[in-house]
Amino acid sequence: MAVDPLIELRDVNKHYGQLHVLQDINLTVDRGEVVVVIGPSGSGKSTLCRAINRLEPIGSGTIFLDGQPLPEEGRALARLRADVGMVFQSFNLFAHKTVLENVSLAPLKVRGRGKEEAERRSRELLERVGLLGHADKYPAQLSGGQQQRVAIARALAMDPKALLFDEPTSALDPEMINEVLEVMRQLARDGMTMLVVTHEMGFARSAANRVVFMADGRIVEDRTPEEFFTDPHSARAKDFLSKIL
Ligand code: ADP
Ligand code: MG
Repeated sequence: MAVDPLIELRDVNKHYGQLHVLQDINLTVDRGEVVVVIGPSGSGKSTLCRAINRLEPIGSGTIFLDGQPLPEEGRALARLRADVGMVFQSFNLFAHKTVLENVSLAPLKVRGRGKEEAERRSRELLERVGLLGHADKYPAQLSGGQQQRVAIARALAMDPKALLFDEPTSALDPEMINEVLEVMRQLARDGMTMLVVTHEMGFARSAANRVVFMADGRIVEDRTPEEFFTDPHSARAKDFLSKIL
C-alpha cells in the first residue's frame, strides 16, 4: 500500500500538571487505514484523540492533517477540525432535536449548506447506518445502539477526511455492540480513514490494519493485529492481553 499519511503526529508531548500524559508520540494513520488503539485505562488514549482534534492543546510536537500542520486556533483550525469527525462513548445527541435535525445541524451551520441539501444528505447517511425509518424520532425514543449510529451519521455529515472513535461501544448494552461495530466495519470497507479506541478485540483483529498499544502515555507497540495478538513483544501488552482475552 502506498504510504499516504492523513494523520501524522511527530514527537507530541503533553502534560497535565506533573502528569506526562502523552510522551514522545509518533504515529501515522495513512489514508484509508484503520488503526485501533488499545491500552489500560489512564494510558492516554482519550487525550490522544482529543489532541488530534485540538480539543486539547499539546505541549510540544506537531500534528499534521493531510500534510498541513494543525493551526493553534482561529478559522483555519475550525476548518481542519471539521475534517476530522469524532464519535464519543456518550453519544451527545441534542435531546430536543429529531434524529434528522441532529444529523443535518452541523452541515447547515458550519459547512453553510442549504436546508434541503443538508436534509437530503442526512437521509442518505441515516440510510447508510440503517436508521432512515427513525428520522423524525427524538433520541430518547431510540436504543443506545441506535443513538450511537445516529452519532456516526452526524459525524459523517461533515464529510470528514477521517473519523476518530473513542470507545464508541463502551456505554452500550452487550446486545447493541455489534450493530455499531458492523456500521464501523462497513465504513472501513468503504475506505474511511479511522482511528478507533476500543476494548473490542474482535473488531481490532478483523478490521484494523494496525494495532497501537499504549501504556503510561507512550506508544509501546504499533504492529499488525496478527503480529500483536499472536506475539506481543512488551510485558505491558502481554499483561493487558492476559486480562482482557
Ligand atoms: P484513557 O483514555 O487511556 O483512559 P485518558 O487520556 O483519559 O486515558 O487519561 C490519561 C491520564 O490523564 C489519566 O491519568 C487521567 O486521569 C489524566 N487526565 C485526563 N484528563 C485530564 C484533565 N483534564 N486534567 C488532568 N488530568 C487528566
Ligand atoms: Mg478514555
